[in-house]
Amino acid sequence: MDSKMLRLTPTKSQSDKRQYRWLKLQNELEAAASLCVRCGHLWNPPQVQGLAHFLEHMLFLGTEKYPIENSFQAFVKENGGSLNAYTSYEETCFHFEVGKDSLMPSLDRFSQFFICPTFTQSATDREMNAVNSEFEGNRNSDSWRYTAISHSIAEPSHPYSQFVVGNLKSLRDDPKDKGIDVRAFLIDFYNKYYSANVMKLCVLGNETLDELEAMVTPMFAPVVNRNISKLYPTHHQFFPHLPEKVFDLHELLKRPDYQPHRIVFPQEKCTPGWYNMVPKSDTNSLRLSWPCKTTLHEYETKPERYLGHLLGHEATGSLFALLKRLGWVTQLVAGNFGNVADVSMFCCNVALTLQGKDKVKEIITMIYQYLNLLKSQPPQEWVFEELRAMMQMDFNFLEKNSSGSHTRELSSRMQQYPPKDILSGPYLVHDWDAGSIDRLLNELTPENMLIIVTSKDFEGSPGLKAEQWFGAEYEPVKIDGDFFEGLKHLEPNGQFSIPVPNPFIPKDFTLNPEETTPHPQLIVDTPLLSLFWRNDNRFNMPKTHLMILVRPEISTKSDVDIVQFMSDESYSSPMNAAMITIFAQLCSDSLNEELSYYAELAGLAFHLSFCFEGLQLEATGYSEKVGVVVEQIVERMSKFQVKEERYRILKEQIMRDWDNQKTENGTRRAQSLCMETIFEKYWSSQQKRDALTDVTFEDLQRFIPKLLGRLKVVSLVQGSMRKSHAVQLLNNVIHSLNGPKPLLPAQIPERRIIKLTKGCNYYHLSNISNEHDKNSTIWSFYNAGIKSLRLCVLVELLANIMEVPLYNTLRTQEQLGYIVTSLHQSHVNTIGISVVIQSHHTAPTGLDARVEAFFSSFKESLDRITEEELQSYVKSLRSIKSQKFHKLGEEIGFNWLEICSREYFFDRKKKFVEELSRVSKSDLVELYDVMILNRETRRKISWHVYGCDREISSLEELMTSLSGNSEGHKELRRGPTQRGKIEGGPTVQLIRSGQEYLFRRELPYYPIGEKKE
Ligand SMILES: [Zn+2]
Repeated sequence: MDSKMLRLTPTKSQSDKRQYRWLKLQNELEAAASLCVRCGHLWNPPQVQGLAHFLEHMLFLGTEKYPIENSFQAFVKENGGSLNAYTSYEETCFHFEVGKDSLMPSLDRFSQFFICPTFTQSATDREMNAVNSEFEGNRNSDSWRYTAISHSIAEPSHPYSQFVVGNLKSLRDDPKDKGIDVRAFLIDFYNKYYSANVMKLCVLGNETLDELEAMVTPMFAPVVNRNISKLYPTHHQFFPHLPEKVFDLHELLKRPDYQPHRIVFPQEKCTPGWYNMVPKSDTNSLRLSWPCKTTLHEYETKPERYLGHLLGHEATGSLFALLKRLGWVTQLVAGNFGNVADVSMFCCNVALTLQGKDKVKEIITMIYQYLNLLKSQPPQEWVFEELRAMMQMDFNFLEKNSSGSHTRELSSRMQQYPPKDILSGPYLVHDWDAGSIDRLLNELTPENMLIIVTSKDFEGSPGLKAEQWFGAEYEPVKIDGDFFEGLKHLEPNGQFSIPVPNPFIPKDFTLNPEETTPHPQLIVDTPLLSLFWRNDNRFNMPKTHLMILVRPEISTKSDVDIVQFMSDESYSSPMNAAMITIFAQLCSDSLNEELSYYAELAGLAFHLSFCFEGLQLEATGYSEKVGVVVEQIVERMSKFQVKEERYRILKEQIMRDWDNQKTENGTRRAQSLCMETIFEKYWSSQQKRDALTDVTFEDLQRFIPKLLGRLKVVSLVQGSMRKSHAVQLLNNVIHSLNGPKPLLPAQIPERRIIKLTKGCNYYHLSNISNEHDKNSTIWSFYNAGIKSLRLCVLVELLANIMEVPLYNTLRTQEQLGYIVTSLHQSHVNTIGISVVIQSHHTAPTGLDARVEAFFSSFKESLDRITEEELQSYVKSLRSIKSQKFHKLGEEIGFNWLEICSREYFFDRKKKFVEELSRVSKSDLVELYDVMILNRETRRKISWHVYGCDREISSLEELMTSLSGNSEGHKELRRGPTQRGKIEGGPTVQLIRSGQEYLFRRELPYYPIGEKKE
C-alpha cells in the first residue's frame, strides 16, 4: 500500500482550531476516546434477541488485565471524566471523556474491552437484570412503542423485525427453554464481530498528533482483525449474488441491484400500508413515511435536504402554513429520519389537533398536492444555492463540541464517510444534482407509503393486536380504494407555492473590534433596565447571544372574576402562570410564518417562554441580524392581538401537554413532586392545567395589557456586539413596550425553600400516575444548608467520591434497577446530595433501606480513604471545574443564572478551584456525618413513588422497615401529615400527595440574603 495513503487531513471548519489526522493502522483499526464497532441490533442472533445491547453492558464488567467490575468507570470518574455507550441498528459505540493527564492510562484500560473481556458467569447472570430494568423503564414510552410497531410491520425474516433492547425473557428464559448457553453465545458473538477492520477509533488529547499516534498504535495493535464484511450476518441470505466480503458500502450502494429497502419493507407486502396505534399518552399524530434507497452515498449532493427543506417549510405558501391555518396541525417535520439497514425513511410527521385527527385523509391529500407542486417543475437551483450558503455558513462557524460528544460523533461518522469528509460530510453540499432530487421525489408515491396514525380514539377497537415485547396496541387498516386511486390523480392546490428568498441570511461576518471583557459588565442600570454586556471574541464567532427577562407586575386585585386566588403578589396563582405561558406561545406562534421560520433557517434562533419571574426571551445568531429579529419580536409582543381561533387551538394543545405529564416516569414525577413540596411557590402542571380550563378568550384579552404595564427588564448581551449597539437595541426594546412604569423593588418575586427540622425523616408518598408503570422510584435529598463557597466544594467533592461505590453496590452487585445514581443538587440558596433509584421489583421502603445500609457501610470506606486518594478526587474535580466553556451558549447559561439569582458571582468556578485546595479529609468526614449519617442532625426528605401494582406503605410499615423491627413505635399525630416516633430512633413524618401545603405551613423557610437591584 502507498504510504501516503496511510495519513490524511480531513477538511475542517475555519473556526475549528483542533488539529486532525486520519490514519490507518496495520490491523486496519483507524485512530483519530470513542470506539465505534460496526455491529448493532441487526447482528443479533434470532435465538438471543437483544444480545448486541447486552454485550455493550458486559464490556464494562471486567477484562483480564483489569478484572474488577466497573473499574474503568471508577478510574475515569476519579480522573474527572465520564463514560457511556450506546447500541443502534448498525453500530455499538463506547466513549469516555477524562482529565487531560489521564488519557494514556484510560486508553490502556479502554483498549482491553476490545482485547480481553472476561464475561464472567456471575456478571452475565446479574447484568441481564440491568438490561431488563432498562427495558422496563422504557416500556411505557410511546416512542419506543412506535419503534417496536415499525419492527413488527417489517419483513419477518429480516433482522429489522426483531426485538432490540432485550429483557429477561429474550436473554434468559427463552434461551434457557431452548437449552442455549447465553454466555457461550455472547463470547461467540464477540469473537465473530468485534474485529479491528470494522472498528473506528477517535482519540482527542492535548498531546501532539505524533505523540497521540505513538500512544494509540501499540495499545490497539493487539485488537484482532478478522477481516469480516461490513454487512450484517443475514445479508447474504437476501443478496446471494453479492460478493462474500463487502468493505466499501458506498460502492455497493451505487449498484442498481442492491436495494435493501425493498427487502426490509417489500412493496405490496408492506407498502402501501396503514396502521392505527393506541398511544400511552394523549397524543394525536400522523406519520407518513416512504422507505427509500439510502442517500448515504449521495452525501455530496444531499437530495433529501432539498426535499425536506421545502416539504417542511413553515412560511406563507407552505404545506404547514395551510394546515395550521385550517386548525388541523400544530407541528410538521419532514426529512430523512434514520438510515437503518441501508434504508432511508423519508418522513412527513405531523402533530394533529382534535379537529385534525378527523381530517387525516385530507391532510395526506394535501401532502401529495404539495409533492405534486414540486414534481410539476424542475428542481430549483436557487433554492439549492441558498441551502448551500446556509450550510456552508453553519460549517464555517461551527461551535465547538465537548470533547466527549465530538469524538463520539466522529467515530460514528468514520463508519459512514470517507476519511477526507469525516468533519464536513454532514454539513457541506458540493454539486447541484437535479437528477438525484428527481429520483428521490419519484419514490414518494402513494404505492410506496407507510401510514401510522396515533390516537387514543382507537382504544378498544376490535381489530387491535398487541406487539409481542412492549404490548403496544396497533391495528392494520385497509386503505380505502377510492381514496388511494384519488391520490394518484390530484388537482393542483392553488394555495401552495415555493418559498421566497430568505431575507435574514447575513453577509457581514466581521468581529466586534472592541476589547474583550473578562466578565459581563453592568452598562445600563435604571429602574426600568439592567443591561449586562460582554464583548467576547474568544470563540471567533460573529455571533451574539441575548437574554431578556421581562419581570412584569401582574396585579390581579381588581379582577375578581378572572382570578380565583386573589393576591397582590405576582406569581401567586396558577392561573397567572398559565396565562403567561399561553401568551408566550401565542406570540411565538403568530411570528412563525413571516419571521421566525426564515430567521431560524438563517441561523437565528429565539425562544419566548414563561419563567418563574415573568417572560423570558432568548435569542442567538449572527450579530448582523440578531438585533433586527429581537426588535421585531418585542414590537409584536407589545401590540399583540390574540386571534380567537389560535387561542382555542393552543389552549387545547397546552392543556394536553400538561395532562400528558401524568404519564411521566417515576424519576420525572419525583422531581416535580420535589419542587411542589419544598418550594414556597411552585405550580404543578396539573394545577396550571386546571386553572387554564376556566380561562376564557376575553380573560386573556384583558390580561395582556396589564401584563406589560409595570415591569423591569433585565438583559445580558454577550458575544460579538458593540457596546453602543447593545445599548441602542435595549433602548429600542423598552421604547416599543409603550412606556411602561418601573416595578418597585419589593415587587420583585423571590424564591424560597423550606427548612426541614433536624433529625426528622420526611417521606412523601405517592403512586405513579401512569396506571401501567410498575417501576417504583425513590428520590432522597439530604440538605446540607445555605450554600457558602466552602459548603459547595465539600458537597460536590463528597458526591463525586460516593458516586461509583454507590452505583457498584446498588446497581452492579444488588441489581436494584437500571437507574441508580447520586448527585449534588442545589435548590435556591441551599445545597445537598440526592440519591435516585428506580426499580421494578423492589418497593420504595426496601430501596430506602438499601440506601441507608449503603450509607452505613460507606462510612468505613470514607474513614479509610488515604490522603493520596483524596488528592486524586480533588484533582479530578479541579480538572472538571477548570475546564473552559466550550461554546458561547454554555457560558451564557452560567452567567445568566448568576444574574437571575442576583448573586453576580461570575468567577465562581475560579474561586471554587482555589477553595478546593483547602479541603481536608476531616472536613468531609464531618460533613458526611452531619448531612447523611447522623439521624439527629440530618435534614432528609424522601419522595417515594410507588409502581402501579403496589400499595402505599402505612406509617407503621415505614417505621418497621426503618428500625428493622415492629416494636416500640409511637404514633404522634394523625391526619395528612401523619407523624410517628421510633423508640430510641428518629421521628418520621409522612406527607400525602396534594397535601404539600399543609406540611409547608408548619416549617420556616431559609432566609434570602441581601440582593442588589
Ligand atoms: Zn443499556
